Amino acid sequence: MKFEAAVIEKFNRGPEIREFDISPLGEGEILVRIEAAGVCGSDLHIFEGRDPRIRLPMIPGHEGAGIVADMKGDVLDVRGNPVHPGDRIIWDRGVVCGRCFYCSVEKKPFLCINRKVYGITFSTADSPFPNGCYSRYIKLSSLTRIVKAGADISPEVLVPVGCSGATSFHAVEESGLREGETVVIQGPGPLGIFAAAFCRNRGAGHIIMTGSGKSRKRMELARSFGVTHLVYRDEMALESQLEFIKSLTGGRGADIVFEMAGSAGAVESGQHFLARGGRYMITGIAVPVGSVGIDVYENLVRKNASVRGVWVSDTSHLLKALEAVEDLRYPFEKLVSRRFSLVEAGQAIESVKDRDVLKSVIMP
Ligand SMILES: [Zn+2]
Ligand SMILES: [Zn+2]
Repeated sequence: MKFEAAVIEKFNRGPEIREFDISPLGEGEILVRIEAAGVCGSDLHIFEGRDPRIRLPMIPGHEGAGIVADMKGDVLDVRGNPVHPGDRIIWDRGVVCGRCFYCSVEKKPFLCINRKVYGITFSTADSPFPNGCYSRYIKLSSLTRIVKAGADISPEVLVPVGCSGATSFHAVEESGLREGETVVIQGPGPLGIFAAAFCRNRGAGHIIMTGSGKSRKRMELARSFGVTHLVYRDEMALESQLEFIKSLTGGRGADIVFEMAGSAGAVESGQHFLARGGRYMITGIAVPVGSVGIDVYENLVRKNASVRGVWVSDTSHLLKALEAVEDLRYPFEKLVSRRFSLVEAGQAIESVKDRDVLKSVIMP
């Protein structure tokens, strides 16, 4: 059987539409007809050659939802439901080994030293193949954790669950958020929007979103996900932003700051928002950005603050993010702002630069 996929063969070029053959399925493998592939900020980094994990040529797309087209053997999803052809599924983009120190002793599979990621670490020469979501089909290995999704949620709405939704849940969980705490979220992208909903569900007090005036639509949308205050960072001096946050917290500052903007500049300002005892969760930085200046004495030591990096996610986080979407309390369908066909993959990747676009989706 032949199929088409969008392939990055050279950085900053294409992607090109290429035709490939699908080889027969091995035991436990699933062939999925992709209904929707999410376009992520990471895809732009991959396209530009900024992600050190990439080997070309490769099929991008690590966020996907689709219909089981074929499978070999009996497969259960992570909720214990049998999977059949015709079912709509999503899956953990990361495939872990289960045997390394981090999988088996630390029980933090997102740190697995052998972690492979569909649409990121695979080249077209690797198996399983096809292995990215900018494609009509993807083949999932028997080690892939999959979840059946209800037919009532559209595939475009499901795609961000597997990447930004899951990573965002991971960050909120590790922050140890307690009821009533004040949270600052830097960056009204999918990570930040999901984080607002998770913080709201956990009983956060004030949820302050910081972002640029160029992202006004996204900032306003964040209000429907539990954000209580908006701070436009390019319309207010840092001092005034800090004053505002302090005015809401009895002069203390934010208990938790989530960096979800993906820039070194966000860390430079975010450190000042922390209250004494505050926690800073750096989540959005997914490619090397160099060093960042931190006022160690004022912002860390004197505050007894902690700074924590958050790296990707595991299946537990994916499931929690899916449950948040299934629960229908928040308008996650509003995250999807543009739809592209497979041949428009290049435009879809470019669209990530548009600050009005929250989530672009390719629908092969
Ligand atoms: Zn992503
Ligand atoms: Zn492992």
